[in-house]
Amino acid sequence: MSKDKHLDDKSDFIKNTDKNPSHIQPEKLTLDSPLQFECHPGVPCFTACCHNIKIVLTPYDILILSRRLGIPAHEFVTNYTEPTYLEKTDMPGVQIKLTEDKKACPFVTPDGCTVYSDRPTACRYYPVGMADFHEGGTNDAAEEKFFFLVKEPHCKGFEEPKRWTIREWRADQGVEERDEYNKEWLRLVMRRKSFGYQASLSEAAKRMFFMASTDLDSFRRFVFESSFLETYEVDEETIEKIRNDDIELMQFSFTYLANTLFGAEGMNIKKEKIKEKVKEIKARQDEALKKAEQEYLELKAERDRLRKEAEERKKANK
Ligand code: SF4
Ligand code: SF4
Repeated sequence: MSKDKHLDDKSDFIKNTDKNPSHIQPEKLTLDSPLQFECHPGVPCFTACCHNIKIVLTPYDILILSRRLGIPAHEFVTNYTEPTYLEKTDMPGVQIKLTEDKKACPFVTPDGCTVYSDRPTACRYYPVGMADFHEGGTNDAAEEKFFFLVKEPHCKGFEEPKRWTIREWRADQGVEERDEYNKEWLRLVMRRKSFGYQASLSEAAKRMFFMASTDLDSFRRFVFESSFLETYEVDEETIEKIRNDDIELMQFSFTYLANTLFGAEGMNIKKEKIKEKVKEIKARQDEALKKAEQEYLELKAERDRLRKEAEERKKANK
């Protein structure tokens, strides 16, 4: 949308889950489909869509908004968001916390969005949603995308004369760039969604996902101030990049999460660490074996003692 906006989906889960499905137009659109729509301060509904809305934030949204406000990510998350689950999964995420009284986005004013050039991905999508045929796919070629319109009665942008294609609209809203930055993270969520609840994901794994998704500063400390770099093979060039560049660090966190949560390739544990682990397991097995031997010997000694006692009693009774 334009000077304000919202929601909606890239793949189902950044969208407003409270959205009435009857507002979703059944027609599947392509990038070349025509769109008659415009949003600007002159529309009678201006900023209406910045109220009563659910806006789930991606890691890139959080990074950009916290930079915009000049505060650390954890402070942004504490002050401007509330916890949610990423749609139809048990993956923890955050959504923008609306004001108590007006149920408004904290960034909206009568003049429009105060963070407009850094607004979240979901705000850029509205009113053109996007869905994938292939959820959880890892291969671009296998993912067929289509678009659809969300026409809500309060939105008067569809009565404006401006005509363009979906492609032009998306370019205008900066959606393509966002999609690129969000891509691997969205795949993690969709992968989880495709596994369903029966596939267990530990609480520790969920905490790690939440931390990496919402607080890059903590993830950076995790990488550089723990035994992480002693454990994983990470080349010097990558280390330099992720040390100095938040976007690189964010992308790296997605690779790490894909590996630890779903066993995807991209991260390898150092050989010496594997050897150490094998040694540790062997030491534990040796210890267990020793203990079992000891228990067996004790048992055998007790059996021999009882046997001897029985023989002695037998002799004494003769
Ligand atoms: S971030 Fe901006 S565009 Fe998005 S809901 Fe809030 S005020 Fe509206
Ligand atoms: S409701 Fe539609 S036209 Fe009105 S401000 Fe929101 S996006 Fe623009």
